[in-house]
Amino acid sequence: MPQLLSDSAFADAGIPMAFVVPSAERGGLGEIQSANGAMAFFTGRSMEDLTGLAFAELVHRDDVALGEDQLARLSSGQVESCSFEKRFEHADGHRTWGLVTVAEGHDTGGSRQGTWVVQVHDISERKHFVGQLEYFADHDPLTSLFNQRRFRIDVDSQLAYGRRHGCGGAVLMLDLDNFKEVNDQYGHAAGDALIIAVATALSGNSRETDEVSRLGGDEFAVLLPESDLAEAESHAEKLLRAIAAVVVEGAGQGITVAASCGVAGFTTDDGQCADDLLINADLALYQAKESGRGCVKVYHTDSGLHEKVTARLMWSEQIREALDHDGFVLHAKPVIELQTDAIAFYELAIRLRSPGGILIPAAVFLYIAERFGMATDIDEWVTAQAINLLEHTKTKPPLALGINISSASLQGDRFLRFLQSHLAATSFPPELLIFELTEAVAMANLQRARQFGQGLAKLGCRLALDDFGAAFGSFYYLKHLPVDLLKIAGEYVRGLGTANDPADHLIIEAVVKLAKGLGTLVVAEFVGDRETRQELLAMGVTLGQGAFLGPSRDVHDIPALQP
Ligand code: GH3
Ligand code: MG
Repeated sequence: MPQLLSDSAFADAGIPMAFVVPSAERGGLGEIQSANGAMAFFTGRSMEDLTGLAFAELVHRDDVALGEDQLARLSSGQVESCSFEKRFEHADGHRTWGLVTVAEGHDTGGSRQGTWVVQVHDISERKHFVGQLEYFADHDPLTSLFNQRRFRIDVDSQLAYGRRHGCGGAVLMLDLDNFKEVNDQYGHAAGDALIIAVATALSGNSRETDEVSRLGGDEFAVLLPESDLAEAESHAEKLLRAIAAVVVEGAGQGITVAASCGVAGFTTDDGQCADDLLINADLALYQAKESGRGCVKVYHTDSGLHEKVTARLMWSEQIREALDHDGFVLHAKPVIELQTDAIAFYELAIRLRSPGGILIPAAVFLYIAERFGMATDIDEWVTAQAINLLEHTKTKPPLALGINISSASLQGDRFLRFLQSHLAATSFPPELLIFELTEAVAMANLQRARQFGQGLAKLGCRLALDDFGAAFGSFYYLKHLPVDLLKIAGEYVRGLGTANDPADHLIIEAVVKLAKGLGTLVVAEFVGDRETRQELLAMGVTLGQGAFLGPSRDVHDIPALQP
């Protein structure tokens, strides 16, 4: 056996290692001369069995050739070491991922020995983690359908495909009718079961080529490639019948639900992008809701491209107009001290007043605002209102206000500069401003989010992480952000009163413990009933918000926020 490293350093290394003879074939790694105990453990074979075995025997056959080129450069002396990833076949049949690092073996005198030192780092866990991240980036965890992000991407590719191959299609947008009542009457667990059953009904009644996705909440969308408007409309009617036929057991009764649907079509040459199409389908869905629910409405494009562009402009113009002339309405939702029922602070939410007088929630117009570069304008509008409220309310000290921040405001330092200049002339403690980032936004812009949090801390304002725990890897992100407040994702809170899932309890307790250690406040969202409030208190959560604790109201109707 060659004495390439001191014997004990090799044998005792916690990292799987082997001395391997270079080979002209089978991926470049030939016979194993000797292997240490960690390698035996990693591969599930004894050290004796490994000796004399071809290294390729340990590797998944599709991965044998991976790294061949790097090894050729190592062989010819161009590099001193190289690394690549391969899947390994464990003796017990399971598969692991290894990061293989190969270096030329040297003895203590420095001469080359014609043997390679191969180290393998077990990266299975990382691969698994990344795999899950990739999965959840595309899928809705409750129904396993594609999520909104993926749906938009697929609609865009279908539009591009349609342009190339001369075919049109349609998008259906479906929203359950009065679904809040189901939650209120039967509990969120029953609501969740109904959402899952609706997802199954939609998938079961779709063709292989249709794509069904859950956009969020009780909203679904279906992409129908190569379908004309009339076909799409009759398919939408079929889906509404399928949803109406869904029955889920809850509280000893059969629960059913109806839905409304908006349909929008695309043709080869209408120049639409996914957002246009989804806005059109959304508008048609609005119409369906307005005309009594339970029906299908089609967005008509008889007047061609021009009308669509103006419809889109209308939205962006409405937003611009609202920005210039205070056309938004500001609502506030209380966050309550669960023990005493006192209001701890308010979370602000913006609504757009449409010409018809309907108040349109932010979720509907924010992506248009983002698309037209107005998201930061909106964040600044809300912030200016909040500063104004804090400066002028007669309640002293004023209640803190939570403001939702979009990802656009994390870019550059425009928003922070705006905040700094607006805070300059104020007299309230800046910690009364709490800026909320959703975990998804923070995740997608971790570096920026951190700089943003540091900027806020410098100004004395606070940072809250919304939807905490919704994504895989939440705890990882927490390590990298200066957070003052965590809002536990609704999915862990919703089922507390009814479903009693032990995992929900464990996760909430873990978040509470973590927050205590970090000196962070914890808020539970979606507190739906008295039992949930009691359970949260028992677990050490002191703050909550949700329908049961207080609705969202116009700030003008809230006495504590009046001058
Ligand atoms: P509308 O007919 O106007 O659609 O009224 P709606 O009651 O269905 O209300 P809306 O569509 O505006 O809101 C959907 C509600 O669905 C809000 C929330 O209470 C509930 N919800 C959202 N996501 C979930 C979820 O994952 N599970 C459960 N159980 N409920 C959810
Ligand atoms: Mg609904």
